[in-house]
Amino acid sequence: IEVARAPIDQEALSGKTVLIPDASQDTRLRYPDKVAAEGIRTILSTPLLSKRGAIGVLRAYGGSAHRFSQDDADFLAAIAAEGSVAIENARAYQLLENLDREKSQFVRMVTHELRSPVQVTLSLLNVLGRGYVGALNEKQSDLVDRAYRRLRFLQTLIDDLLDLAAGKADVLATAERGLVSLTDVLREVNERYEAPAHDKGLALRCKCPKSDLPIWGDRSELDRIINNLVSNAVKYTQEGEVRVLAEQIDGFARVVVSDTGIGIPEDALPELFQEFYRAQNAKEIKETGTGLGLAIVKDLVERYDGTIEVESKVSEGTTFTLTLPLADALFA
Ligand code: ADP
Repeated sequence: IEVARAPIDQEALSGKTVLIPDASQDTRLRYPDKVAAEGIRTILSTPLLSKRGAIGVLRAYGGSAHRFSQDDADFLAAIAAEGSVAIENARAYQLLENLDREKSQFVRMVTHELRSPVQVTLSLLNVLGRGYVGALNEKQSDLVDRAYRRLRFLQTLIDDLLDLAAGKADVLATAERGLVSLTDVLREVNERYEAPAHDKGLALRCKCPKSDLPIWGDRSELDRIINNLVSNAVKYTQEGEVRVLAEQIDGFARVVVSDTGIGIPEDALPELFQEFYRAQNAKEIKETGTGLGLAIVKDLVERYDGTIEVESKVSEGTTFTLTLPLADALFA
């Protein structure tokens, strides 16, 4: 209905409930014939009030005259009040979602453009650093090396931003889904970190079941989740060990990644999964980071209907516990 035109709705929009006990007698109706033809004999119209004024009306029709009492009018007004709050919340939520999506699309576009010049410059510096175009003296070599490392960090940042924006912009919907063995992913990630862990003098232990732990999803996404957790554990541990334990519990795969590293201060724990957040003790060590890894992990884990939890003590170590629903359970 076009509320702006009908006089009864105009009255309702001013903030009160309007009752038309007998539609055939009421002069406020613009098309009484049409109303009668619909079999409507009585009308109740109540405003939908938001914080910024009336946003519409809620109407009830009756097939016989004098059908509605004051109690009915109060009841309709109560429904309208609940309805207005729900409509306002839904609109605000939609607005936020749109803004978030637009922001992510912007980030994706910009980072995409940044990726190739960074890649090319890295290759050029590599050629320079390896002396293919002439030997460098110590000072030159040091400068090239520093430039290379700064650019590598920029490359990680771009990759992380792209991943984060991809999740938000629902690009993941196009990811290749199928049955993936989480056990295989865990083994691969573990192999990837054997050398870096060994170089730091850390023991890297992995205890996986013989079974596949099949997950319905995309291999590179699952790799991203496990890779982030294991790389953090290795990165933030100076001595001791990193353990990866996987097992099946009912319809879930549970992966526990624990380390004997620097730990996470208690006040940092609630912030950990926020984009760009890095705890103070992490910033103080030599290793660089973007603060985006765990935000990406959380985003992905939620998309898989999984959970991620963290327990930690400063200077003692950290344990991340991940659960993901198994494909068997989904199709059971
Ligand atoms: P970053 O690029 O800084 O590693 P992440 O999002 O992966 O970003 O992690 C966010 C922060 O969480 C880190 O900066 C660090 O403070 C903390 N953190 C994550 N994993 C560990 C860990 N295994 N041990 C100690 N701190 C960790």
